[in-house]
Amino acid sequence: MTRIGLFTSGGDAPGMNAAIRAVVRAAVRDGVEVFGIRDGYTGLLRSDLHPMNHRSVSNTLQYGGTMLGTSRCPAFHQPETRARAAEVLREHKIDGLIAIGGDGTFRGARYLEEEQGVRIVGIPGTIDNDLYGTDYTIGFDTAINTALDAIDRIRDTAHSLERIHFIEVMGRQAGFIALEVGLAGGAEEIIVPEMPTDVQAICDNIRRGQEMGKHAFIIIVAEGGETGGAFPLAKRISSLVNIEHRVTVLGHIQRGGKPSARDRVLASRLGVAAVNAFLDGQSGVMVGEIGRQITYTPLEETWTRVKAAPIEDLRLSELLST
Ligand code: ADP
Repeated sequence: MTRIGLFTSGGDAPGMNAAIRAVVRAAVRDGVEVFGIRDGYTGLLRSDLHPMNHRSVSNTLQYGGTMLGTSRCPAFHQPETRARAAEVLREHKIDGLIAIGGDGTFRGARYLEEEQGVRIVGIPGTIDNDLYGTDYTIGFDTAINTALDAIDRIRDTAHSLERIHFIEVMGRQAGFIALEVGLAGGAEEIIVPEMPTDVQAICDNIRRGQEMGKHAFIIIVAEGGETGGAFPLAKRISSLVNIEHRVTVLGHIQRGGKPSARDRVLASRLGVAAVNAFLDGQSGVMVGEIGRQITYTPLEETWTRVKAAPIEDLRLSELLST
């Protein structure tokens, strides 16, 4: 009988539970045994593996976070640690792994496969949406809706006083979250790591807005990039235009909460696709969805190739928010 190990790793994302459920139930259907591994690579190294069945995943679909736990495991960067992980898998007679996570998780998985011959299929689970090989990652849709809800609330109060509200959203390397919520929330400016920040142009836009009778401004700032986050940028701009400002850092709020319908559907599709891929003999690939088609991308390409954020939306946002 085939036996797979299943784990979540790195940053958690809403919808991971839906993916776990889909993997377990599809595997059970196909007569495959599933061992859930607690806390990602850390749990694998301490042999924290437990059999899962149809019932282990009952009533989990609607919860954020991950029922298997997750971790950051710096030791996994060492080849000898990965050799130990392979030993644990042999002790438990595991034929391969299904890994739910982001590019860090996939790097570890790829090296484990390459060095130790462990068969691995990846499922993209990260709120950042920055993985090549899938239109969307599990968790992104929930994160943008959560951030948007917060932005709408800030806009409600912003209208009462003349102020610039700087709202920092997640996205260290990529502006996917900032672009989506900036456009959807009608932000006056969107600052993303992919583009240089022209402070002078932002100030000019604010002054033009004031002349047109605007008195509330919302600027969405992705946490990464040259500005160093919302605080330093806010200080600079606010002193140049002489308008009071407030900074809101949405932080981990964006990671939590009930997964959206879209994330649950994506997770369900990709969970089943991962089991099918494994049973078809695939390994070293991430399952994804591009234009509603299930795709298989070599793990390495998920981080070596770049998925471009829709930077052209900046122009759209500019047009609509003036
Ligand atoms: P994510 O999977 O969300 O990108 P991380 O970047 O934190 O999250 O990666 C999760 C874990 O994957 C790390 O804690 C580490 O155990 C493992 N990992 C990340 N990068 C590597 C690497 N280059 N080599 C081996 N293991 C890695």
